[in-house]
Amino acid sequence: MAEIQLRNVGKRWGAFVGVHNFDLTIADREFLVLLGPSGCGKTTTMRMIAGLEDVTEGEILVDGNVVNDLEPKDRDVAMVFQSYALYPNMNVYENIRFPLKVRGIDAASHDEKVRRAASMVELDDFLHRKPAELSGGQRQRVALARAIVREPNVFLMDEPLSNLDAKLRVSTRAQIKNLSHELAVTTIYVTHDQIEAMTLADRVVVMKKGVVQQVGSPMEIYDRPANTFVASFIGSPAMNLIDGRVESGVFTAQHTRVEGVTLTDGPVTLGFRAEDAMLQDHGQIEAPIYTIELLGDATMISVRVGGALISVKADKTYRAEIDDRIGIRIPVEACHFFTAESGERLD
Ligand code: ATP
Repeated sequence: MAEIQLRNVGKRWGAFVGVHNFDLTIADREFLVLLGPSGCGKTTTMRMIAGLEDVTEGEILVDGNVVNDLEPKDRDVAMVFQSYALYPNMNVYENIRFPLKVRGIDAASHDEKVRRAASMVELDDFLHRKPAELSGGQRQRVALARAIVREPNVFLMDEPLSNLDAKLRVSTRAQIKNLSHELAVTTIYVTHDQIEAMTLADRVVVMKKGVVQQVGSPMEIYDRPANTFVASFIGSPAMNLIDGRVESGVFTAQHTRVEGVTLTDGPVTLGFRAEDAMLQDHGQIEAPIYTIELLGDATMISVRVGGALISVKADKTYRAEIDDRIGIRIPVEACHFFTAESGERLD
């Protein structure tokens, strides 16, 4: 059992704040993903949980006990990094066994534990190989097995897939998802890749400049982003955002007129997703086509509104030419509104 509580946790180096007021309880066996752009404080948060970085404010608790002053080795967490850090002179078997040796775990149990961990990541046939004789994906699986063999209560994973090519990323991602389910451990996973976050997480924490922007299930974050930062970070393509004004229940911007808006008059940002809009002869947006992208299973059409590129997903059979004038219909229930100043969600 491992419930992790972060109580107003902060990290500061001199005047620079790396992580600000992180306050969250991570449930036993939860798969939590920390998501955000480079430098937003994901790794620092995880290193504080691991004990590799001092906490400058707040408390970290594991199962109700404050661990701020516990050494990393006493925290019962296993970390997997983007660089696998395998020992080049040891073969796969010895690399996986290493944590058992340094922890002085009864040698009689090593063989069974190593073989079981290797089997979970399908490395049974590679135990005698040296890291140099493995592919990137196989090395990453050795690193995973080395974490599994310790039977920790908490897994901490920092961009473990980032050195793999696109195809291996997808298969290793599925393997991690399956493993965390099978091992039933609490997992905290750091990534800047929103697809990894959406596919792996029970809950996602979106961070920006050391500050948590939103915590929620992948669908909550996708369907009801708390602000324009989250809206533009989640989803591919990102949510369309148009700066405009509401007056007497009508939102207007260049090429754009949306009626039936129940907001007070003033500047606001309208958001909608590419797949929620439809192409027709007339719509709330009417503009010439700027790009046409064939994706195989769909066609992505974009127009320019003000400074923004607005994307709409059309059927794969949709045919049109650049500069053709099109209408974009946005169902009212698919519209999101955000304040113009801070970008906070309005409804
Ligand atoms: P990435 O995706 O690039 O790994 P990240 O979200 O994991 O980024 P962190 O590594 O947590 O970001 O860094 C958060 C911020 O803290 C960054 O601006 C970084 O420059 C800063 N930082 C990290 N370590 C130190 C340090 N030892 N001293 C001062 N600033 C630091």
